[in-house]
Amino acid sequence: MTRAKAELGLARPAALDAYKDFFWHARAFDAANYPSRHNRHLATRTLRASGGSAGNTESQRPSACAEGSLGHSVSPISSVIIDEGPEGKTFKFTQDVPADATKLAEQVKTLRTESVLIPMIGKRGVRTYTLCVSSQVGCAMGCTFCETAQMGLIRSLTSEEIVQQWYAATHLLKHPEIPEPVVTPQGLEGPVRNIVFMGMGEPMDNIENVLGAIDVLRDHRGPSIPISKITISTVGRVDGIHRLAEQIKTAGWHRLNLAISLNAADDEIRSGIMPINRRWNLGALQQALIDYPVFGGGKLCIEYVLIPGVNDTEADAQKIADFFAPINGDYQAKRQISTARALLNLIPYNPRRNSPWPAPTEESVDRFMGWLTQRNVYAKRRRTKGRDLMGACGQLGSEHIRQRKVVDLTVSA
Ligand code: SF4
Repeated sequence: MTRAKAELGLARPAALDAYKDFFWHARAFDAANYPSRHNRHLATRTLRASGGSAGNTESQRPSACAEGSLGHSVSPISSVIIDEGPEGKTFKFTQDVPADATKLAEQVKTLRTESVLIPMIGKRGVRTYTLCVSSQVGCAMGCTFCETAQMGLIRSLTSEEIVQQWYAATHLLKHPEIPEPVVTPQGLEGPVRNIVFMGMGEPMDNIENVLGAIDVLRDHRGPSIPISKITISTVGRVDGIHRLAEQIKTAGWHRLNLAISLNAADDEIRSGIMPINRRWNLGALQQALIDYPVFGGGKLCIEYVLIPGVNDTEADAQKIADFFAPINGDYQAKRQISTARALLNLIPYNPRRNSPWPAPTEESVDRFMGWLTQRNVYAKRRRTKGRDLMGACGQLGSEHIRQRKVVDLTVSA
């Protein structure tokens, strides 16, 4: 049964156990704090998934929980910052997670995850929300334009700690603008339509827990987020891209989205702002993207943060075109089509605190877009503030939303 499930791309045992455990405890949490119809429904579905009934008792809990191997409860939201944007309010919220058994644990009791719920108005004028989740507390990648990089890596999150960010956004974050989740015959309809791994951390640095979390998030007995609505964003860890290339070959995973933070198409410049480039340079990244499997119309979203004086000249635009050429050329030649596979997402730099660079002017962004268009690079520019908020890894949040200590920790007494 387990093997059949694995071959079908259904939740792997570890993720399924985590899922059962997660929702079991979630129900206990809800009963005290948020007793509502949809939570009862979730619990019922979870129990059904675990082979139990709605009347289960503590002694009938799934075995993984009884053994205490995955002991976990949903952390309440510890802080919320609300920012007004043209497409609605953006909510940044934090949840406490325990420190692990490292040296840090001697000084620190709890750590904080950060998540952002971002409103977006679609073509039909309907507002939906994208949830940007963290995969780590801090990050080891050291990108110079990034606020999180200043923390260093504190620890990676477990699958449950990633999923609980979705749970908090769906059930705990109460605000008149956030629609209440409802249960329809199709499943749970909560406020979150898309999930992007663009919060704190490099997802490829914690890939197994990220995949475990996605297993839960896409599970039709639980969150039911379509895989096509989930995006992993990487700084360009080529080993992680290879791992993901294998994963998306399995049934149920084909339409998982991949985004890459390029930010410079010149090795010297890129190594200067993104140390990962010293380990896997542009050639290695380009080859990994050429080799990345294609399913359906699978596009590659390449993020480019435009930083004045760093990567904003006409020569930089030409280098982007050169980087894209073999990726799109290989795709088009194999399929005898003219559509591009790699799409550039141009994001005006959103300065971190104490940044050595300012934000680019409107004129310079327009000029750069013009150079890209002249070179047949299919590029989009984030125009509205709400969308800038989820522009790229390391660019999360407006100035207001970023107001936090560099390391937001609770220190033991
Ligand atoms: S930009 Fe992304 S990968 Fe780079 S340091 Fe920041 S969080 Fe890590």
